[in-house]
Amino acid sequence: MKVLVNNDLVRREDVRIDFEDRGYQFGDGIYEVVRIYKGIAYELNEHINRFYRSAIEIGITPPQSKNELKGKLEEVIKENKLLDGGIYFQMTRGVAPRKHQYEKGITPNLIAYPLYFTRPEKQQNEGVSVLTADDLRWQRCDIKSLNLLYNIMMKQNAHENGAFETIFIRDEFVTEGTSTNIFMMKDNVIRTHPANNNILNGITRMKILQLLNKEHITYEEKLFTKQELLDADEVFITSTTSEVMPVTKIDGQIIGNGKPGMNTMKIHEFLLEEINTIQIEAL
Ligand SMILES: *Cc1c(COP(=O)(O)O)cnc(C)c1O
Repeated sequence: MKVLVNNDLVRREDVRIDFEDRGYQFGDGIYEVVRIYKGIAYELNEHINRFYRSAIEIGITPPQSKNELKGKLEEVIKENKLLDGGIYFQMTRGVAPRKHQYEKGITPNLIAYPLYFTRPEKQQNEGVSVLTADDLRWQRCDIKSLNLLYNIMMKQNAHENGAFETIFIRDEFVTEGTSTNIFMMKDNVIRTHPANNNILNGITRMKILQLLNKEHITYEEKLFTKQELLDADEVFITSTTSEVMPVTKIDGQIIGNGKPGMNTMKIHEFLLEEINTIQIEAL
């Protein structure tokens, strides 16, 4: 495997990370996961824009331009002959003596490497069960930060209990999953949490809203409670790796008729049709 380390593509075995990198010590950095279909990075511009936004929100100034970064990521895809999978990239604040505060002049560190996985078709066809938990995260969930401690605790808890994901509830309202956004449908209206500081505004989430517009399916970006979620006709979660994942059980309670919802499947189809038209875009 070839890994991008700042400006260089190096063999995995040759990568050297400094133990005083602030990403390693504090999780002081940000990241993205992009899906690769047929060797092309899907919605790459949107991911790069979000990456820059996250960086700037925590006071990191990426040394590369967006176009330079895009070129580097495309090299990673080519060099690794990546056709179906993903690419992970992150930027940390850089290397400095271990103190919470930092000097302004330190140089951020970028890494990018391929992820080998395929579409989770079995789960997409059968639906998944999820758990719920209090949303004990901070209130800047709009930043795709490397700090994922509570997210990983709750994802791990889900997996140890045979569930696919944990859905967070803040002040009685459903926010999102540990690494997914959530949608519910009741009486032919779809609802999802508004894009504010309490969720990470997924690229998949935004794409789904675009598709709903295009297909004239009614939706609202409006808060809903856990009870409303349990009473929904259909529920699904979205992310780069899951696409549209039907949810058929929440905290052991069956949703709708216990099978993936008809509209959920249709919306996934719309997304797959869109993915099929994929081509490289200029930034
Ligand atoms: C990355 C992420 C998502 C999904 O975003 P996509 O861009 O659709 O992959 C949702 N919630 C959280 C907390 C995330 O980190």
